[in-house]
Amino acid sequence: MIVMKFGGTSVGTTESIHSVAQIVADAVGRQAEGVGDAQQRGDREGCNVVSRATVGRAPGVLVVVSAMSGVTNTLIDAAQAAAASDEAPYRDGRSQLLVRHQVVAGQLIEDGVERAGLGRLFDNRLQEFERLCRSITVLGELTQRGLDVVSGVGERLSAPLLAAVLRANGVKAQFVDAGELIITDDDFGNANPLMTPTVTRCRDRLLPMMQSGVTPVVTGFVGATENGVPTTLGRGGSDYSAAILGAALDADEIQIWTDVDGVMTADPRIVANARSMPELSYAEVAELAYYGAKVLHPKTVTPAIEKKIPLRVLNTFNPTHPGTHIVEKTRALRHGVKAITAVRDLRLITVAGRGMIGVPGIAARTFEAVARQKANVLMISQGSSEQSICFVVPEPEGEAVIAALKVEFARELVQHLIEEIASQPDIVIVAVIGSGMKGTPGIAARVFSALGAQGINVIAIAQGSSEANISLVVLHAAADEAIRAIHDTFELGTE
Ligand code: ADP
Ligand code: ASP
Ligand code: MG
Repeated sequence: MIVMKFGGTSVGTTESIHSVAQIVADAVGRQAEGVGDAQQRGDREGCNVVSRATVGRAPGVLVVVSAMSGVTNTLIDAAQAAAASDEAPYRDGRSQLLVRHQVVAGQLIEDGVERAGLGRLFDNRLQEFERLCRSITVLGELTQRGLDVVSGVGERLSAPLLAAVLRANGVKAQFVDAGELIITDDDFGNANPLMTPTVTRCRDRLLPMMQSGVTPVVTGFVGATENGVPTTLGRGGSDYSAAILGAALDADEIQIWTDVDGVMTADPRIVANARSMPELSYAEVAELAYYGAKVLHPKTVTPAIEKKIPLRVLNTFNPTHPGTHIVEKTRALRHGVKAITAVRDLRLITVAGRGMIGVPGIAARTFEAVARQKANVLMISQGSSEQSICFVVPEPEGEAVIAALKVEFARELVQHLIEEIASQPDIVIVAVIGSGMKGTPGIAARVFSALGAQGINVIAIAQGSSEANISLVVLHAAADEAIRAIHDTFELGTE
């Protein structure tokens, strides 16, 4: 069986939902004929698909779907406005979302009974959204737990809609809420799946459906705690949902359908000649996603690695393109550099002073203070002189981290053992990625000369011990130019 996940743009308009329905109907047809999707594409893994598929697993297709593009943002903005006593956004949001979903249903579903049922469902969900926002206004406070209920509404509208459109296209599809399937901890806004109960739920609920020829259409992004409290997996988390469900059901392949021809050598919105990469390893994709390639949620590969399930990134708007195939190992390239990514909206924090030299424990105390703020450190760089440590955190966490460091080092600051705790906003990490970089000398030198030629100042640099990544810290204003310069110097736009 295969998992097919469709992102926000793939279900953003009537036309795109129509294309999705055709893509799914084709895949369901192929699975019913016993032809694996990968085999259809004629690659090596295709042979595996057939042999794996015959060993008693459910045939067919499982669909995972995101909210229509922009909907999650609308919901979150409305909830935040509600907490600040501004009720207009949720009132407008309710009617605007109702119309947007009903228009698609009206254009793609002929059956009047089906349409009326969907209309009632949309109405109920959006009434609930309005009620939730009203209580947020009354309380004057928005908790992460409350926000998870609101932000998951988009998927709870799009998934029943897509299921109905699939039925209108002759696919026996049924909507399933992932709250029944993906059991998570209670880290609201960024919940982690508990795989043992998740596997049991998925098998009990989904396998009988799939064995009787039904295609489940599951909400991406959302889950629930063991007590049934709604959670979300983090922004962009529907990719992760697909991988969790794929691993739980031992899928033959997890397909991520989006709006570009696969994982590219750089964000195509920044680099005009960015190129789709036919093959990447799990490790490379994990690195790329962690360092900002929005095309996949950073946690997506984790469930796939354990079961060695291949992932494929495909384009809903160009469905015959082979996209990117993500497997355990790939062939190394000449110079090893495969892609350039960027993480934005960061702050660089520097702890500096002569008193740090030879004093053990300053680094440990620095990072303990940072950890107490639950801040995510994206990069650390320490000068060999030991006079300073600098590290990068997301901008929203910057102020709290600095305050915590000032408390931690209050005595050292008074005694001038630590001269300053400085911070630089508007920071971007540009990451140069490729597992074949290991053992290839001179890559950092080429990166620096490319940036030097453009007059771009590199504030700090770090290389992971895996050597699959060189990270550079630059100012926001120079980031896009830096990405283009490095992309050019390694000629990533040409094969
Ligand atoms: P979806 O709604 O399908 O989940 P996303 O918007 O989350 O899609 O991700 C797809 C977008 O990711 C692309 O439109 C592209 O602009 C952006 N992107 C950033 N870096 C990359 C990259 N290296 N390769 C492909 N796309 C990238
Ligand atoms: N709809 C969610 C978001 O916008 C999840 C996703 O698109 O993957 O973050
Ligand atoms: Mg996405």
